[in-house]
Amino acid sequence: MRDSIQWPVTRRIFLSLYQASYISIAPLLNDHRIRQRLANLKNARILGHQLQDLSMFILVCLVSANLSGCANSLETCAPSELKLTWGNPSELQATVTKLSSAEFEGRKTQTQGAAKSRDYIKQRFQALGLQPWGTDFVVPFEYHTPFTLNSGANVIAIAMAQTPTNRWRIVVAHYDHLGMSGSQVYHGADDNASGVAAMLAIAARWQQQQQQSLPTHTLPNVNLMFVATDAEEPGLYGSTALVEQLKIRLPQATFELMLNLDMVSHPSRPYAIYLEGSRNFNQFNQFKPLLSEQNRLCIKLSHPKPIGRSIQNTNWLQVSDHYPFNKANIPWLYLGVPIHRQYHTPEDTVATIDITFLAAVTESAFELIQLNAEYLKN
Ligand SMILES: [Zn+2]
Repeated sequence: MRDSIQWPVTRRIFLSLYQASYISIAPLLNDHRIRQRLANLKNARILGHQLQDLSMFILVCLVSANLSGCANSLETCAPSELKLTWGNPSELQATVTKLSSAEFEGRKTQTQGAAKSRDYIKQRFQALGLQPWGTDFVVPFEYHTPFTLNSGANVIAIAMAQTPTNRWRIVVAHYDHLGMSGSQVYHGADDNASGVAAMLAIAARWQQQQQQSLPTHTLPNVNLMFVATDAEEPGLYGSTALVEQLKIRLPQATFELMLNLDMVSHPSRPYAIYLEGSRNFNQFNQFKPLLSEQNRLCIKLSHPKPIGRSIQNTNWLQVSDHYPFNKANIPWLYLGVPIHRQYHTPEDTVATIDITFLAAVTESAFELIQLNAEYLKN
């Protein structure tokens, strides 16, 4: 996820306070001494005016707990709920470990680390029997920043449908990150080695099911495109280039879905993955059970909104690679976790992510790309 202009320093400070306050809600909800704790918190005056909003939030939760309120949803979004089916944590961990290792130098665009990342992803695509989109898996592009012409390269693989069709679904995960600062590596394990690992696992599963042609599990007859994008962090340049290339090279295509996986391995409280999308989610409640029927992953419809007027809302539409697709009117869905302490720091390492959670998100994302086209229509 890119660090956008919506993130001034004050926002980060307030966000930390917000996260601290949010985490403290869960035990409070079930505690009979809640009044005492609130009084203590008030006395401490840690959150100032924010506390008033927090108190109101807790009150609303308590009042609505008998309905389908916040208390209930917090209780059900727990690590112990997860029941993995085919997701393979050790394989995912190996991929994230590789991409986030010092050898890849933080994968910054136009560096040696980025080139190594591309080689690695290309080899993985080849090993899965996927085809390049054109002559090579690596698809270069150029982009302008003030006074500079830059170059990047996406890594793109396709899996054509068994019966020829113009229907396409695209899975995107950016592989670039922030590089190095002196000798310090920005590993970018969650951001976004996790998304690339999930995408590769989804591609493997798709290939496996396609080859087995199991009658009990029929894949939709669609062409799939898997794209590891470059230059997301400096400004979504890889996905912008991809959208332009799609328009030119596939003018007859119907793009049913672009699924963006960006930061999918570092859950907070509640223990949930968040889904954003280009549509109004009229049918979300109908297709949501299909996504987590097996693994019971907690999927929430939108990112938590910061409490208090002093915090700007994050513009989730513009923070990642789905934005150029939105501008091109291509339907998109985005899976990601909220901003966390390790976000865009050298501490975003494989040791701080949750591999079981990543495996569950991978499984649910695989269900998502198989959804009946009817669910994807407004
Ligand atoms: Zn980022």
